[in-house]
Amino acid sequence: MSNNTAGLWQTGISREEVFRQLAEVQFDEVKGHWSRAFRPPLDVQEVGATAYRTFLSDNGLFSLRTDYIREVEEQVVGMCLGLFHSPPDAAGTFTSGGSESNYSALHAIREWARERFPRLTRPRIVVPYSAHPTFSKGCHYFGLTLERVPLRSDRRADVAAMAAAIDVNTVALVGSAPCWSFGVIDPIAELGELAVHKGLWLHVDACVGGYLAPFVEALGHALPPWDFRVPGVQSISADLHKYGYCPKPASTVLWRSAELKRFHIVHPDDWPGGPYRMQGFAGSRSAGPIFAAWAVMRYLGREGYLRLTRELLEVRVRLMDEIRAIPGLNPLDSDLPPIAFGSQTLDMQIVMGELRKRGWILVGASQPPLINLPLDPAANERVLNSFLADLRQAASKAAAQVGARSELDY
Ligand SMILES: *Cc1c(COP(=O)(O)O)cnc(C)c1O
Repeated sequence: MSNNTAGLWQTGISREEVFRQLAEVQFDEVKGHWSRAFRPPLDVQEVGATAYRTFLSDNGLFSLRTDYIREVEEQVVGMCLGLFHSPPDAAGTFTSGGSESNYSALHAIREWARERFPRLTRPRIVVPYSAHPTFSKGCHYFGLTLERVPLRSDRRADVAAMAAAIDVNTVALVGSAPCWSFGVIDPIAELGELAVHKGLWLHVDACVGGYLAPFVEALGHALPPWDFRVPGVQSISADLHKYGYCPKPASTVLWRSAELKRFHIVHPDDWPGGPYRMQGFAGSRSAGPIFAAWAVMRYLGREGYLRLTRELLEVRVRLMDEIRAIPGLNPLDSDLPPIAFGSQTLDMQIVMGELRKRGWILVGASQPPLINLPLDPAANERVLNSFLADLRQAASKAAAQVGARSELDY
């Protein structure tokens, strides 16, 4: 592809030439796997993509006043609410991703706090250290103060420390189910108790695990309660475009009651165009993701999600065993995928660097140094075997450097 970034080309090129050039920039199916995270098997991808394309040009901006979009969006949200032990009066909002879902919750919290604590000038949110960076970003956008509290040694929220961090300005608490970096579910029941006791809003960030946990539980694996079963949980964010297997961008924020959803809604009408009513932050948006989410959820049904979850959990055990068998590498014990692994002996920066050199596109954590694998049902044998082969090499390169350093030390 040409390097010309100077401006728009004078003449167009043929359709064939467009796609020939785009084919050049597509990255490797295998090595790019982890960065295309959370894809279902091909047949499900196909269903989502076809629905997406069919409704690509329809404007989701109008979902509240266009019956055919509104009805489908409501059906999607209804299917979602049914998974989280929602009270009959619960409500939801379809959003563009976990970021927008978390921003929606923070914004609603601020509006609620204004009503409930009218004298507060700078409301404050207390979260565990492992909370997603969107809480820092959102607090920045909405003029809230964020307090991150150190974790317990099992990397879960330290409820006693969070209780101690609550001050007169505190209006809300956040817990993750699970957090992205470590895959562990915070003690939501205890956070709920604390929230109820102190009169605070508890938001649960279930962006990554929200559409996996209900099926993991249904398969008989006990998980700590984290959804609307827990009193005090006022809102939940859960990403359809992660383990809901829907095409991006698609997420949901669920509210315990329609009354709480009210704090999310901003419908100005002080311009020539009249009432400006939409679901959330986004204005014009493709309705494709809404219809694609409906298509994927209808296609899979409960049975489909259970089948994919069963397969995912099997691959997870196998992948963790294989990683554990590599000298120096330790997968973390977690409640739910993604998989995270680190090392007590190897420099994970070197491991990561060696994997990148071999073409892998990866994300990780820095404190402590970890690599995260967003395991999905599209991770086939070729991806897993080729990743493990490169990971073994990367780990032995890192091990050689540990040796080299200790030789120098002597
Ligand atoms: C992915 C994720 C987010 C952010 O979601 P986006 O869809 O990337 O905007 C927030 N919280 C958690 C726990 C996540 O895993």
